[in-house]
Amino acid sequence: MGLETRGDLLDDLPFRFEDMTALTTIAEAIQSGEDEVTVVGRVGSITERPTRRRGLRILQTRLTDETGEISLTWFNQRYLARTLEPGSRLVVRGALKVGVRGAELTVKSHEVAGGPDELAAMGPGLVPVYHASSKVSTGVLRALVGEAITDLIDGVADPLPVELRVRHHLPLRRDALRAGHQPSRLDAYETARQRLAYEELLLLQLALLQHRHDTDARAGALALGAPGEVSTAFRAALPFTLTAAQEHVLEAIEADLNRTQPMQRLLEGDVGSGKTVVAFAALVRAVEQGGQGALMAPTEVLALQHLRGAERLLEPLGIEIAYLSGDVPDKERRARRARIEAGQPLIAIGTHALLYTSFADLRVLVVDEQHRFGVAQRAALSAGGETVPHVLHMTATPIPRSLALTAFGDLDLSVIDELPPGRKPIKTSIIPEAKREDGYRWIREQIAAGRQAYVVCALVEENPDVEARAAEEEAERLASGPLQGLRVACAHGQMPSGDRQRVMAAFAAGELDVLVATTVIEVGVDVANASVMVVEDADRFGLAQLHQLRGRVGRGTEQSYCLLYSSAEPTPDGRERLDALVRHQSGFELADVDLRMRGEGRLLGEAQSGRTDLRYARLHSDRKLLEQAREDALRILEEGIDEVLAQAANDRFGDLIEALRRA
Ligand code: ADP
Ligand code: MG
Repeated sequence: MGLETRGDLLDDLPFRFEDMTALTTIAEAIQSGEDEVTVVGRVGSITERPTRRRGLRILQTRLTDETGEISLTWFNQRYLARTLEPGSRLVVRGALKVGVRGAELTVKSHEVAGGPDELAAMGPGLVPVYHASSKVSTGVLRALVGEAITDLIDGVADPLPVELRVRHHLPLRRDALRAGHQPSRLDAYETARQRLAYEELLLLQLALLQHRHDTDARAGALALGAPGEVSTAFRAALPFTLTAAQEHVLEAIEADLNRTQPMQRLLEGDVGSGKTVVAFAALVRAVEQGGQGALMAPTEVLALQHLRGAERLLEPLGIEIAYLSGDVPDKERRARRARIEAGQPLIAIGTHALLYTSFADLRVLVVDEQHRFGVAQRAALSAGGETVPHVLHMTATPIPRSLALTAFGDLDLSVIDELPPGRKPIKTSIIPEAKREDGYRWIREQIAAGRQAYVVCALVEENPDVEARAAEEEAERLASGPLQGLRVACAHGQMPSGDRQRVMAAFAAGELDVLVATTVIEVGVDVANASVMVVEDADRFGLAQLHQLRGRVGRGTEQSYCLLYSSAEPTPDGRERLDALVRHQSGFELADVDLRMRGEGRLLGEAQSGRTDLRYARLHSDRKLLEQAREDALRILEEGIDEVLAQAANDRFGDLIEALRRA
């Protein structure tokens, strides 16, 4: 379970408590008239059946003790049927209803109680419930933790300097741990958790800032001086004026580029906020000085989109563009690589293929859609030779500031918080199955008015082949049925890349009315005339992804629409996501909702979780703590960090920093 030492047991706080002070006999519970009761008893035989609502199942059994009997009901607990054994002892808490058919309890939480001894050990008071596994029960963990507390807790050291503890009124680490496992009341638990969370965030900030400091010391980026003629020409040729937010970010970037400390900046901007021109402006600075720039995108679709933009905005200025991705023919790719390796001033645009190219004179690197690359790759790219490039990371999945400070705490942060003028908010509606045909009628009207539409097909879990086939079938179904007579085509990730490019180009040129696609269009497609986005089975998509998809429309001045086709019975979470999308336009607000709904993000991305993940801090509710930790960490590093604290930061987050450092 990832617990290797008894110390690990101490560090692993319970995730909830069972309140045994409320425990009564079944007879007492029935007579009490209380709405919520806690009782313990033996489980009878278990039945499971579906309900009239699709997807919703209920599980029923009876619970008896010496004084009486009640029936228990669980909703939607599929796995329970397999784990719950008739005859076992359960502590259950829930809502009690007494009626003509006897007493019924709708279970809110339950816990296998084991024998009478274990039960005695549990009560009275708050009983901790630990994350258990199929082999190690929470009861076993409870016993082990109890022993560890008795044996070890007095020896637990506190890494926090006294001065900080006094200033923030923090208890000692050992007292916080004890209260975290065995609180007298729930608010005592919360106080203890916050104490541990603050420490954890402080150590994280120290580790990240220290890493940043080390990187800066390694330094050796070229200071690019003042913008030259090509920069001026670039600005003059733009078909629009930059927004104040874009100007503001550019100023910060200019300042960065003018230093020998390599720029390490994260640029956050909502979908469509215009990050690309900002990136181009930075890249121009590299070439106009005779150096090289590179723009790396996570997908080919997005890389191509950037290539088209560069052909429009950069090539007319006499800047050479070298496009590199997996689908460039070998010979051509070798030729382009050779020019890059020879130090020809140019801007390289591409996918991961860029990673395998050694630039002779890379001065500015832009990494688009930051979140798609893991932390480790972020490090790989910025690890240079003699001089290090200035690096700009960009993301359109706005990360709440708290998360940005955590996951990217070694970066400077800039935000584009306004959209180019003239954009109308996208009207978003949830379309239930019964209204499906109305939706199609309405799409026809939009297309008759000269607009274009996207239809994004349902997500098929981890199976791009099935997903691709579904998209093809949907395109056929629409073309021969509801959208008959319109020019419908399909694009997905399993097509040969040439074919896909042709379809996308035809759509961009207005030669198609409807583009049926899988999520390949999620990022980067920029067709201003497209004003309708239809998402099938929208409730199954994640919030960030839905926001990205919606961001494909609303890029022109026409009113745009997003139609979220919902399955007949969305899960409560799915429903909440759709509602959030209707309510919020801003990616920042949605990211906030997302964080609240999904809980905490992982620092190293899904693939590399584990010991570096946050144990105590909850990014959604602990923002103040995080800001405080950041502030304290900055001050501590300035005044000189003590040995104990430095060691603690390294023990806790050394792995994370190692991942950041690995080249
Ligand atoms: P994103 O931030 O999502 O990458 P893009 O850079 O693709 O956004 O910009 C979205 C669209 O807005 C593009 O068509 C771009 O040309 C346009 N755009 C960018 N900046 C401005 C501006 N200041 N005024 C008007 N249009 C702009
Ligand atoms: Mg973009």
